[in-house]
Amino acid sequence: MPTGEIYFRHSLRVNDYLCQGCTTCMRTCPTAAIRIRGGKAVISDNKCVDCGECMKACPHKAIYIKQDDFGLIENYRYRVCLVPTTFIGQFDTKYKTKAIYSCLLKLGFTHIYEVEHEVPRMMELYNRYMEDHPEISTFISPYCPAVTRLIQVRFPSLVDNVIHVRAPLELASRVIVKRLMDDGARRESIGVFYVTPCAAKIAAVKYPVSGKETYVSGVINMDFLYNKVLLMLHDSDKNAQPINHALTARDVMWPLAGGEAVNFKGYQYAVDGLQNVLNFLEKLEDEAVDAPGLVEMRICDQGCVGGVLTTNDRFVARKRLEYRARLFERLENSKLRESSNEDNTLTPEWIKDMEIPDIKPRSIYKLNDNYAEAFKMAERMKKIEKALPGVNCSACGAPSCAALAEDIVRGDANADTCVFINPLSKTSKDAMNRIWGDRIKSNKEEQ
Ligand code: SF4
Ligand code: SF4
Repeated sequence: MPTGEIYFRHSLRVNDYLCQGCTTCMRTCPTAAIRIRGGKAVISDNKCVDCGECMKACPHKAIYIKQDDFGLIENYRYRVCLVPTTFIGQFDTKYKTKAIYSCLLKLGFTHIYEVEHEVPRMMELYNRYMEDHPEISTFISPYCPAVTRLIQVRFPSLVDNVIHVRAPLELASRVIVKRLMDDGARRESIGVFYVTPCAAKIAAVKYPVSGKETYVSGVINMDFLYNKVLLMLHDSDKNAQPINHALTARDVMWPLAGGEAVNFKGYQYAVDGLQNVLNFLEKLEDEAVDAPGLVEMRICDQGCVGGVLTTNDRFVARKRLEYRARLFERLENSKLRESSNEDNTLTPEWIKDMEIPDIKPRSIYKLNDNYAEAFKMAERMKKIEKALPGVNCSACGAPSCAALAEDIVRGDANADTCVFINPLSKTSKDAMNRIWGDRIKSNKEEQ
């Protein structure tokens, strides 16, 4: 795999025992981040954007997302569960929100805070940024971290179009920590645990693009917590404690495709699903589309309810959230919020802290820091690619002939790897063994 500076880390792992080297994940990856080595999938740190497509595609469930140990919460006196409304959308609407939250409290959390409480403050941050940058016509929402990373690696010319503001969960964690400290808690006694629907949000917490400190102490996979809560839910409704939440219908819908854009006045667009996002970014880069205003983009189809760590069908989860949003509308939560004593202003400290000073282009196409050397390598790559058969068979352990040509010029593979070019040579066989491991030998022995 490519060597050199590692500027990203990702949260997906391959279970070598389960991986069959079937290449399905490699062919799905939008950034050509996967190779087969030793008969197993290997993910490149620098190319992976944590979109989760490989995990969704793997037929052997060999790709997983490493989560923090749940026992970590015991290290804190104040244990905050930071929940996005996507979590509530996983549950049948026969379960009341307060019953679900009661289970979280029984599991050991002392406080629950919904990320979507921060919608008004986040909108203000976005609007401030847009007003401060009249030279930019199309703004891309920074909400989906996989989109930001995808832009860094595949569409580096668009990094300035991304609103340079950190994720809502970062603001939510600051707000709840401040509240608890105002009530007398010591900072080190507060642990904030985010319930994540996807890999990208884990990477955003652990390896933030901003490079700034996070207030999130740990991340819990949504499917893991869902299963724990579901087991407890059946008899918890009657004992549920009402919780003070004043989300509006719009807040509840925020993680869904279109749920963010709708909050903006002026032109707004909502693009969801990996292929749609790629197509739209390509058009923006080529200036083939004129989209002044705000573009909301979500890698997952239907938004966060389509995340790899959700447990229910995304269309069903969407409907459930729409249903809950209607309930909240009836409760007239917006009036409740206006009349509450909650201070919804943004402190200058938060404004500063939520800024992302710089989003660096991390082009996967860049071959060398030295321009002359990079030019030579690109020329060589073109020649090699022409000499390859162009069938993209993946027998070489790369997703395409173009990817193999790149691996060769980077020194990560050699031309003998191609079975079409050199099918009988000893080095070709050695290369096949390196890539496919025992599989080649055992197939031959069976014949
Ligand atoms: S899809 Fe990828 S991780 Fe899953 S079995 Fe095939 S090669 Fe291995
Ligand atoms: S998470 Fe996305 S970018 Fe990363 S290896 Fe999987 S498919 Fe490729």
